[in-house]
Amino acid sequence: MSPIPINTFTYKGIEVSMLRLDEAHTNLQGNKFYKLKYNLEAAKLSGFSSLLTFAGAFSNHLHAVATAGKLLGFNTIGIIRGEDDIHNPTLQYVRENGMQLKFISREQYRQFRDEQHLLVALTQEFGKYYFLPEGGTNHLAVKGCAEILADIHQDYTHIFCSVGTGGTLAGLISTPYITGKIIGIAALKSVEAIKKNIAELIDSNATTSWEICDEYHFGGFAKYHPELIQFINRFQSQYNIQLDPIYTCKMMFAIFDKIEKGKISSSHKILCIHTGGLQGWSGWHHRFPLK
Ligand SMILES: *Cc1c(COP(=O)(O)O)cnc(C)c1O
Repeated sequence: MSPIPINTFTYKGIEVSMLRLDEAHTNLQGNKFYKLKYNLEAAKLSGFSSLLTFAGAFSNHLHAVATAGKLLGFNTIGIIRGEDDIHNPTLQYVRENGMQLKFISREQYRQFRDEQHLLVALTQEFGKYYFLPEGGTNHLAVKGCAEILADIHQDYTHIFCSVGTGGTLAGLISTPYITGKIIGIAALKSVEAIKKNIAELIDSNATTSWEICDEYHFGGFAKYHPELIQFINRFQSQYNIQLDPIYTCKMMFAIFDKIEKGKISSSHKILCIHTGGLQGWSGWHHRFPLK
């Protein structure tokens, strides 16, 4: 595997380096490659021929599972909250890549998610499958994400990453010999559940310091916010790097805001992680066609 590129740019005189997971593994972009890696290995080793997962209809996770299944020869099954929409570009993509979809209502989903009897009912319907939870976060995903920073030999004082379920952040925290502080920028409102999730996922011997910042969710997960869209456009024209509309934009906004407020200064050595998610733009334009 070739090394992942790092770009360094400055904002108000402060240097920021960005690890470009969006430019690695063109078919399976961003952090999702790392989250799936050991799960797919385990599925193969245990002789599974199908992967089944829960996901939102626009999600990067769903897109990644379909892509991985196609690449590695697994059947894929996506259990989707809500109703089918044949014009949803993410759903179109996963179908084209052979994923079978089942839609369950939000109420059913809430009732049944993680419930053993739903998984049993799904086995009756689809046969034996390797299960990937929503967002793909489990111990093997954390193990994979602990490799994201493995080849970084600079001493960054602060490492920023966007947070959904927290699986990726748990992996970063678990990186051996990491010295910088890991800072997660939450893409959604409910950070208490995420913190708890991370605490359960990290190695109890991990000594890395970490925190989750909940000041930059912009109204919640995948909500439209004009200031954020303006920011994405300005960032792209200034640095020629495309951010995604759900996750990395909030992380980058947070870093720039902290620089403006003097919370990040030139004595800090900053690394941020572009976790990919660019497939999300087609779904975004579908949801907000005029914006
Ligand atoms: C899935 C995703 C995340 C969140 O990862 P978690 O492990 O769920 O916290 C962050 N950024 C992008 C681009 C993603 O697709």
